[in-house]
Amino acid sequence: MTSSMTSFNPERMTPHVWRIPIPTRTLPPASATNTYVIVDGGCAAVVDLGSADAQIRSALCEWLMAMGVQRIQAVIATHYHADHVDGLAPLAHTDLAREAPPLYIHRLDGVRLPAHVAWTEAPRQMAVGTLAVHLWHAPGHTHGHLHVWVESDQLVLVGDNLSGDGTVWVGPPDGHMEAYFHTLEHLKTLRDVQAGPGHGDPLPNVAQAAAALRQRRAMREEQILQLLHQRPLTVRDISRALYAGQLAAGAEFVAQRTVQAHLLRLLDVGAVRRSWDPVQHSFTYTVS
Ligand SMILES: [Zn+2]
Repeated sequence: MTSSMTSFNPERMTPHVWRIPIPTRTLPPASATNTYVIVDGGCAAVVDLGSADAQIRSALCEWLMAMGVQRIQAVIATHYHADHVDGLAPLAHTDLAREAPPLYIHRLDGVRLPAHVAWTEAPRQMAVGTLAVHLWHAPGHTHGHLHVWVESDQLVLVGDNLSGDGTVWVGPPDGHMEAYFHTLEHLKTLRDVQAGPGHGDPLPNVAQAAAALRQRRAMREEQILQLLHQRPLTVRDISRALYAGQLAAGAEFVAQRTVQAHLLRLLDVGAVRRSWDPVQHSFTYTVS
């Protein structure tokens, strides 16, 4: 058995939804992306599959058949990043997908997929067997990010807008901090709802998780403003001051993008100004 086969380990979250962590090439510290399967009657929808490994695909199909699934009705991408979509198009050409199910994705993310991948604009609502499944536009991590709401199970699949194993990264060109704040505010209104994130363990209380992240981002913004009160700084200066020594190898890029997303939001609301520093060959930021 290969390591990819031994790590195929579905976990039932709710009566109709299963989570399967799949090894993917993703951002450290994560090394896997959650695939979710929504099952009712003999029908299934598969949300995110970040590996095109043929062994993983056959393990998934065998497991679905053993569960009595006769048909994959749709494959759904929460967003366009490779560690979430790479396996979806091949899955839509397996035996379980005789009727060539659509690959649903939001238009703003669909246009970012590689040209050879066929996709369909996600509807706002679809049926999986007798279940109503809603596809909410929830921008933040990407502009066309989707949340998948399984009302019967009080479960929302949140892709990379929340994480079960570390912080979320929201930075340009894909991420937009103000949009992300709106998305978190919406998640905060959901009562007694469980969330399935793109990476890591399920979040038992989505409102709490969203509130904690919203607070963390507010704290970061406050810290950035405090630093800028002292003197003009570049994105790199700020990132080093905020995350001094705490960053895993390779994470500095992500940290800088997140700082950049905060600064763009602060520019938009007029809280900071930026000017070009020809000596440092970089923008510097100051409080307005
Ligand atoms: Zn992502």
